[in-house]
Amino acid sequence: MRIVNVSQRSYRYRSARKIGDANWPLGFDDMTGGFTFIETDEGITGVAPLGGSAVPSLAPLLIGLDPRGVVGLWQSMIAAVFKGGNEGEWKAAISALDIALWDLKAKINLEPLWKTLGALDGRCKAYASGIDMCLTDAELRAFYRRMAGRGVDAGKLKVGLDMDADLRRLAIVQEELSLVQPRPSLMIDSNEYWSPKQAIRAIRQFEERFDLTWVEEPARRWDYRGLRKVSQSVRAAVATGENLNDASDFSPLILNEAVDVVEIGMGTTGITGALQVAHMAAGFELPVAMMNCPGNVMAHVAAALPNHMMMEVVEAGREVCWHADNHIENGFIVLGDSPGLGITIDEEKLAALERETQEHPRSPSPPRSRRRGAGLYAVPVTEEERQLGPR
Ligand SMILES: [Mg+2]
Repeated sequence: MRIVNVSQRSYRYRSARKIGDANWPLGFDDMTGGFTFIETDEGITGVAPLGGSAVPSLAPLLIGLDPRGVVGLWQSMIAAVFKGGNEGEWKAAISALDIALWDLKAKINLEPLWKTLGALDGRCKAYASGIDMCLTDAELRAFYRRMAGRGVDAGKLKVGLDMDADLRRLAIVQEELSLVQPRPSLMIDSNEYWSPKQAIRAIRQFEERFDLTWVEEPARRWDYRGLRKVSQSVRAAVATGENLNDASDFSPLILNEAVDVVEIGMGTTGITGALQVAHMAAGFELPVAMMNCPGNVMAHVAAALPNHMMMEVVEAGREVCWHADNHIENGFIVLGDSPGLGITIDEEKLAALERETQEHPRSPSPPRSRRRGAGLYAVPVTEEERQLGPR
């Protein structure tokens, strides 16, 4: 079997609701969607629900080769970007191609990916994550109530700009998830907005009222001394890693005891990269947590990890023209038996979105910048900002 073609389709869309955190507290719903396809000479096609502008540059490395050699193909892509580094658009492209290759491998095996990866059961524990700083208190309550209705007993709140609001809102999350069990797991995420000392002061205030399972990205992603200081100064675990690239970025954090929950996702250089990091963490008795992704398709990987804790579920309505064969039941993501990642594309909807994107081009999405005041002092949302709206 040989790879004969690599292609992409992309579109802009609006998600069903906004998402926002300490860096973009007003939230946004202007999203980019896409698919990467890898076709074979035997008519089987692998698909990943993401694109990447560097995919066409890497595609020639795959053409003509056997797609079943996923790890070898991943390695040749990593070697190809050696000088510039496995970062940014290169990392995104390798991730997209690697995920499409794994989808393809499982389809060749005529089984769901969780089976190809060696999982015994196609399921993993879920936690609710509203990415919710932009939600009103009522919307926040409705989101966590909905998730509790599906048996989810863990939730993560976005925090960092306004301690009084954060404490009030975490109580809402706790209240709603308590419908599932009296002591739900509560997490907070400040998305690198704090300095280590700001983080310690803030987390200690949370811990006067709440028992936190983890605090996420309480300091900059590479600051192993700061993250270690936070970990040693609070009761909660420090979770971090969702913005790192691959195993080489994680080892300094692990070796310096700067991470207690290792976060992986599509962006950990695809499934191959995420597996490497998860296995490395297992060697240090560290749990991993899977980052959210459209369609929750990375649950296939989480299901195959003995040290997986729980996966982030956002439910923001990002699957505007496709569907993945899984659902949430009794607090778990339950994967179906469709081959590969279980992705079904609605051709009509995708074509309409592509047409709409071409006919009415919007200005490029703004970069997702760091909010002013970060690491120095909190800058709550002003009335003026509210009136200007998300930018
Ligand atoms: Mg996060």
